Order: sequence, then structure tokens, then C-alpha cells
Amino acid sequence: MSETSIGGDRDGRVGENQSLFREVNERVLEVTGVVGVPIWPVSFICECGHDSCFEQVSLSREEYESVRSNPRTFFVAPSEEHFIPEAEWVLQKTERFWVVEKVGEDGALAEKFDPRSEAERSSLEFHPRQQQG
Ligand SMILES: [Zn+2]
Repeated sequence: MSETSIGGDRDGRVGENQSLFREVNERVLEVTGVVGVPIWPVSFICECGHDSCFEQVSLSREEYESVRSNPRTFFVAPSEEHFIPEAEWVLQKTERFWVVEKVGEDGALAEKFDPRSEAERSSLEFHPRQQQG
């Protein structure tokens, strides 16, 4: 009779996962910027909640920035497998990718882990180039 299930816990993990992929993609962008002028579109990693997914998704600069401008939105490969209906809804569908928006607790988590939050941004300003060692 118990209704307590894996639901809530799993959702949270999905949110963390997606935030992790988002951070990886921010690094991808950083690296392309350091090596030279990023050649757009850049190939990013699908930001769906599946930790075994390494699908590549290519976005133009405008597309990437527009997804990043909202901490709750992520881009995923354009198919149902990369979309988790319990945790998000599809905002936009294109041939190359879908944009999904996290809802509820996952949305709050996504905001919390936003790599472009104010704190992150100002720490980057203080250390524009981090030297190792
Ligand atoms: Zn995926």
C-alpha cells in the first residue's frame, strides 16, 4: 500500500546529472575559446538525464547562448529517448536538437547548479586564467 517510491530521489539525480553535462559543455566552450576562435556550430554533449548518453549535439552560438540564458533549460538530442516527461517539458524542437525545461524540484536543482550563476561569474573575473602548480 505504500506510495513512497523511487520517484523523488531519481528525479533529483537526473537533475544533477544534467547539471554535470551542462558544466562539461561549458568547459568544451572554454577549451575551444582558448585554443582559438570557436568554430560554430560546436559539438556539445546531449544534456539529457541519462548518464550513459554521450550523443553529440551541434548548436550555433546563438542557440547555445539562448539555452544557457535560462538555468532551467537544457538541450538534448532530437528524440523521445532523451526526454524525461516526468521531469521536464519540451520548449522547442529543431532538426538537430530539442530544448527542454526542467520543472518542479529538478528545475530548482538546475538553477542551484547553474555554472553561470553570479558567484561563478565573479570568481572567473578574479581569475581569468588559472595557472596550475
Ligand atoms: Zn541524451
